[in-house]
Amino acid sequence: MIIKHFTIPIFIPGVACPHQCIFCDQKKISGRQKLPSAEKIKNIIEEHLTTISKENTLVEVGFFGGTFTGLSLKKQEEFLKVVAPFIDKGFVKSIRLSTRPDFINDEILELLKNNHVETIELGAQSLHDDILLACERGHTLDDVVKASKMVLDYGFHLGLQMMIGLPCDTLEKTKQTAEKIVELGADNTRIYPTLVVKGTKLEELFNNGEYTALPLDKAVKWTKELFNIFEKNNVNIIRVGLHPSEGLLNGDDLIAGPFHQSFRELVLTEIWNDFLLPLTKKYKDCEKIIINVPEKEYNYAIGYKAKNKKMLEKYFKKVSFKRDKSLKNRTYYADCC
Ligand code: SF4
Repeated sequence: MIIKHFTIPIFIPGVACPHQCIFCDQKKISGRQKLPSAEKIKNIIEEHLTTISKENTLVEVGFFGGTFTGLSLKKQEEFLKVVAPFIDKGFVKSIRLSTRPDFINDEILELLKNNHVETIELGAQSLHDDILLACERGHTLDDVVKASKMVLDYGFHLGLQMMIGLPCDTLEKTKQTAEKIVELGADNTRIYPTLVVKGTKLEELFNNGEYTALPLDKAVKWTKELFNIFEKNNVNIIRVGLHPSEGLLNGDDLIAGPFHQSFRELVLTEIWNDFLLPLTKKYKDCEKIIINVPEKEYNYAIGYKAKNKKMLEKYFKKVSFKRDKSLKNRTYYADCC
């Protein structure tokens, strides 16, 4: 039986974060300005629950956006206690939250442990000190290592989020960060390509010519490499790319950077392109080719705007894709006729 996961997102804006990383304007990114009230959080959960099927669904509440554990302990507890009745009634299984690695200590972890939090995602962003310094993250690699160990020692699931294309970043460093995330024991991750958002220090650097944003095609290629590392090591890639807020979608807040609403699809298109390209040699005498793929991968195999199908059509008279329910992960086979 397939269990569907659903996370009810509660955005905690930057007010919980006393820090200012050069790329971040949480108020614009989360699209919300004020800390939500307990009442508001309760309403958000109730509204989402009316739209989620109860059949075979695992529901979590996720506190995202800012730095949850930067809130006072009293506020953290107040927010967590809003979720408790939904967990007691069986509507919600658990809580996940994101925070900074240097905002983790025993007192905080005790509080989270006693209030149904099961997953803690730390914003690592990079595991290279020169990049962390250049981004004015205000913490070091050592902080990430220590916090990750504490999170795991307390029995939480660990998530480590990373960014690509930050100042001083290279493909090699990005891959090393992913490898370190695996080594630190994360079982989930999020990959965020760096965007230049209006009103940030990164915008100043960009305008002064001191920062160059990754072009979209390069960001897709880098992320493809990360997929290989994370998937090989069973690290679940929960998200790729920022949630598209209104300001990003209409371009008001976006100065530069590889923003694309279907970024994950672009990456998976490239992964499938790598699989499919060798078929053009292997089956070079075929007129028609049928590619059988797992149901979940069908659209990605065809590719964003049918990119992969069009590529194959240059070599074969007829190309079709078929869903094969018996196939798992990214296995596939081709029929030639
Ligand atoms: S720690 Fe997170 S919320 Fe705070 S400024 Fe940096 S990216 Fe934004």
